[in-house]
Parts: sequence; structure tokens; C-alpha cells
Amino acid sequence: MTAYLQNHFRYDTMNSWNWATSYACNLKIHKLGLSWDIESKLYDLLQCQEFFDAQRDLMDAFAHDHQFRWQVGMNGRSGGYLVLYEGGIKPTGHLSYCRHCYQRNFKSVAESGNVCGKCGKPERVDFVIPPMQTFTYPGRGIDMDEDFDEWSLSELRDRVRLVQELDALADRMVELGIQMAKDYSVMEVEISVPQTQKVLVANR
Ligand SMILES: [Zn+2]
Repeated sequence: MTAYLQNHFRYDTMNSWNWATSYACNLKIHKLGLSWDIESKLYDLLQCQEFFDAQRDLMDAFAHDHQFRWQVGMNGRSGGYLVLYEGGIKPTGHLSYCRHCYQRNFKSVAESGNVCGKCGKPERVDFVIPPMQTFTYPGRGIDMDEDFDEWSLSELRDRVRLVQELDALADRMVELGIQMAKDYSVMEVEISVPQTQKVLVANR
């Protein structure tokens, strides 16, 4: 178990000058040993937001399964490394919201009344369940200079299980990528974006 943890691939949690590293998986496309056609298809998919959204769902599920205490992120100049991060979940601090425009407020209705500061409607109510937000410690390395000999067997087992789940997530992300490469093609579409311009109008 100690060897597995010590020999596992690692990568920077932030930048190389930050010195912090964590367990990671190399997901760079040319390192995955895929066939040429799947590989070139994946490079196409990298230009589509939908591809990242699908991968993000898998990463979010990992964080959720670990109550956000452990989360993953992509790091590296072109984001090719899946890195394990320590994190958590905490209240956003919002106490009320507007039922009309959903604007959130850090004050309760008892403190500042029920009139919404944004839309002006008397529709503010207190949250029954306060909204939460997740956070990570991006600069915090994980097990960088750990002396695993001091760990109990159950501590070691838990950590190995966590890192194995990271590996399993990386496998699922690659599988999803391959499946999407087989099922979809990237097509260029032209969209028109409404734009505001100022024009001269003759006085009457
Ligand atoms: Zn409002």
C-alpha cells in the first residue's frame, strides 16, 4: 500500500513554483495510447464546451461522493492532468432571497424587510435551508513528505482506496471521451449575436 501511494503519479496543485503536489493522473490525449482516429477526434471534441460539461459531471460526482472533502480539478498549461484536491463545503452566507427575481441577500427579512433591492418587489423570504458552496485548498499539497510508516493500517487503507477512486475516475473520463468520439462529430455552426450599436438619427 505504501509503495502504491509513494509511486503514484503526482502533479502540481497550482504552479510548479508553488511546490505543492498531489496525486494525479495524466490525461493528455497523446499519452493515452489510443488509435489515431479516436485521438484526432478527441482533439476536435476539445473545442466544444459540451465535452467539458460531460467530463465535469463525472468530476462533480466524485466530489459529491466524498462530501466535497476530496475534489478533483484539471491542471497543467493545457489542462491535461487530473489532480486530487482537498476541500469542503460551507454556507454562502446568504440568508434570504427574492421569490420574484431570485436575487440573494446576506441579510434576513427580519433585519432588512421583505423588499428586494434589485427588483423592488416585496418578495424577499428567508432561506429555509441556507445555500452552500464548495471550496478547495488549491495550494495545499497532499501527502508530499508523508512518512507512511507512522500511519495506521486503516488510515493507509482509506488513503489507498481514495487514490484508487481517483484512478477509476480517470478511467471513466477516458472511457467517456472515447464513447463521445465514437458517437459524435464536431460541426461548425454560425450564430448571430445581437449587438447594440449607436447610430445617428436626423433631428426633425
Ligand atoms: Zn427581486
